[in-house]
Amino acid sequence: MSTKYVDIIIDISHEAIDRTFQYKAPAELADRIQPGMQVLIPFGLGNRLRTGYVVGISDEPSFDVTKIKEIDSIKAGGIPVEGSLIELASFIKEQYGSTMINALKTVMPVKEKVKRLTNKQVHMLLTKQEAEEYLVYYEKKHARAKLRLLKELMEDVQIPFSLVTGKLNISSSTLKAMQAEHVIEVVEEERYRDAWNGQTDVPSQNREIPNTEQQAAIDRVVTDYENGCAGTYLLKGVTGSGKTLVYMEMVEKIVAMGKQAIVLIPEIALTYQTVKRFRNRFGNRVTIINSRLSKGERYDQFEKAKNGEVSVVIGPRSALFTPFRELGIIVVDEEHETTYKSEYPPKYHAREVAIERARMTGAAVVLGSATPSVESYYHAMKGEYQLLTLEKRAQEDASLAEVSVVDLREELKLGNRSIFSSQLQNRITDRLEKKEQIMLFINRRGFAGFISCRSCGHVFRCPHCDVSLTEHFSGTPKAKLVCHYCGYEEKKQNSCPKCQSAYIAGFGIGTQKVEEQVKKMFPQARTLRMDTDTTKNKDAHETILNQFANGEADILVGTQMIVKGHDFANVTLVGVIAADLTLFENDYKSAERTFDLLTQAAGRAGRGALKGEVVIQTYAPEHYCIEAAAKQDYQTFYEKEKAYRSLLSYPPFCHVLAVFMEDAGQDRLVSLSERLYEKLSSWGADEQVRVIGPCDATIAKVNDRYRRVIYLKHEQYAYLVEMKNRTEVLLEQDPAFKEFALSFDFDPVHSY
Ligand code: ADP
Ligand code: ZN
Ligand code: ZN
Repeated sequence: MSTKYVDIIIDISHEAIDRTFQYKAPAELADRIQPGMQVLIPFGLGNRLRTGYVVGISDEPSFDVTKIKEIDSIKAGGIPVEGSLIELASFIKEQYGSTMINALKTVMPVKEKVKRLTNKQVHMLLTKQEAEEYLVYYEKKHARAKLRLLKELMEDVQIPFSLVTGKLNISSSTLKAMQAEHVIEVVEEERYRDAWNGQTDVPSQNREIPNTEQQAAIDRVVTDYENGCAGTYLLKGVTGSGKTLVYMEMVEKIVAMGKQAIVLIPEIALTYQTVKRFRNRFGNRVTIINSRLSKGERYDQFEKAKNGEVSVVIGPRSALFTPFRELGIIVVDEEHETTYKSEYPPKYHAREVAIERARMTGAAVVLGSATPSVESYYHAMKGEYQLLTLEKRAQEDASLAEVSVVDLREELKLGNRSIFSSQLQNRITDRLEKKEQIMLFINRRGFAGFISCRSCGHVFRCPHCDVSLTEHFSGTPKAKLVCHYCGYEEKKQNSCPKCQSAYIAGFGIGTQKVEEQVKKMFPQARTLRMDTDTTKNKDAHETILNQFANGEADILVGTQMIVKGHDFANVTLVGVIAADLTLFENDYKSAERTFDLLTQAAGRAGRGALKGEVVIQTYAPEHYCIEAAAKQDYQTFYEKEKAYRSLLSYPPFCHVLAVFMEDAGQDRLVSLSERLYEKLSSWGADEQVRVIGPCDATIAKVNDRYRRVIYLKHEQYAYLVEMKNRTEVLLEQDPAFKEFALSFDFDPVHSY
């Protein structure tokens, strides 16, 4: 057998060694080494053993053979990366500017084997006739324990080991003796950990029949797939139009061709209805991956996928890297969600990576939303994605809710200082009388926005971050001030540290305050609250939503968590307490985000036979995103938003690269960021790359580290990649930049 030369990526996160190193495979390993495997190799001067990933194998050396070291061994317990996922890692490295090793780790949501769970069983090895003979034999020998076990096994030829040593009280020496007599054997069977908490839904028999619109969308994707020309589809369907049924039908048809499916859902929605519906349809052929699974549970779900024991995986971003061998379709539900963008480097967008993975294997990608991202809709308009639309609600009597907008400034003029406009109050009273349900939505967690002294204006701030503190548990002895960025907490003081005034109060409103006000104004109503504080425990989401679904409360108060994808037939009123809270966040996506939230919130009302109503309270009723959301008019919103993005050169018209820098020393950070700015400006001059900044980040300090940012803009993505590559070289070669913490974010979904 000829010598094999193996290209390896070393598992050390350092720019300087972000390339392949070539090793020789020793004879005994040569035919076992495969791309994707984890191996141990001697590295560096001391030849310390390091882990590496095989990314290529060839028969010819690319270096002086005498200098090529040998691979030590295949790493025990290391999971190989699927071949196609290595290619995907290269894409991530190129596209988002990460090291290859970080890209490889991204496509491997599980990196190490976790010990299998086993089921021990005791089997009888005798025929019925033989068993009868042994029965007589044991009786004669007064072997009472052996008799006990044998009798049990004559009832049931295979029983759990735990029963044998437990209830039957058989000692291990007895077991050994019976094994020696070839009467029994003890068998250990491996089994997978379950991701469903032991739930055992069986596939349901009564299925919904797709309507004409739904069927057209399904046929289109399935037919294209059969004809080998599947592409990317944007399924734009109003809230309640039955997108989930469309996904399930497509998935079922493609799975029936022997292929597999990945369904991405935003983490928040993962626990509830959509998942349940997939479970009802696909039974044991579907599994779930979410952040609440243990390491072993996660590992087993990926193993099941690899071994073909499941055909459908539902999960958040990381489920995209399920090692399926013949992936046929990827669904990205709620494709506009910004959580599809990774917040850690490599800051990849799951939508784009899904499209790339699908391209590699000829799979279809279906992006679904009631409010597509401006980027996706733009691609659909240009014909790069194929547009599929669902115009009407799927359930017979359901129709879109009636929406009214209330100007809070007018309310104030009329002397109403409460957080509920008179219109919303009337509607709430009305629904409580009719025993219908209400959802009140506020886009902020905690009790109050920030807390300050009403006498001198002193604002309570985090000592480690450039943000004000938020009050929790107001009005109780537990009242405290919390930093949402670093977790710093302090007890709420009774007086101002500056002027000793006792008049300290919170501004703004949060979910707790809304709940408190509801209780005050509508003491007869039963309320539930759902936000990050009330959903810390494992199954809290599900418990609260189940309680509400079962009619155990009249009013559900919550943050965006309550507006995502839930379907409650008895909800006929949705109140949005202050629609503009998300509108004036200073980034280019804030109007889009507000429009999405309002449309989704409005979509919660009137999903059953009862007519729904939505009241949107706002200080900015004339803003186009609020006007459009009130009319549930995506098209108008899109046209206005497109004009704004085009004017200010934002995606999809222009690509943006954020270069984000952090340092403990403020002066050093300022001077380095300025030097980097000079460099970027000179490199980008020819291609007219716009370089903006450097400036302090929106939050200029977190955890005692200062933060600055530079933005680069250009129509051509490739030029921005080029700028990133040159920056990396600078970081490596200029000693001033050594140890300088810098990260790249292409087309960021939030501001820095
Ligand atoms: P979306 O995700 O588009 O907002 P859902 O998938 O939640 O909508 O569907 C809304 C409701 O309509 C669900 O209760 C679903 O069971 C029902 N539904 C969907 N399609 C049909 C159909 N073809 N026939 C009857 N009911 C349907
Ligand atoms: Zn004061
Ligand atoms: Zn802090």
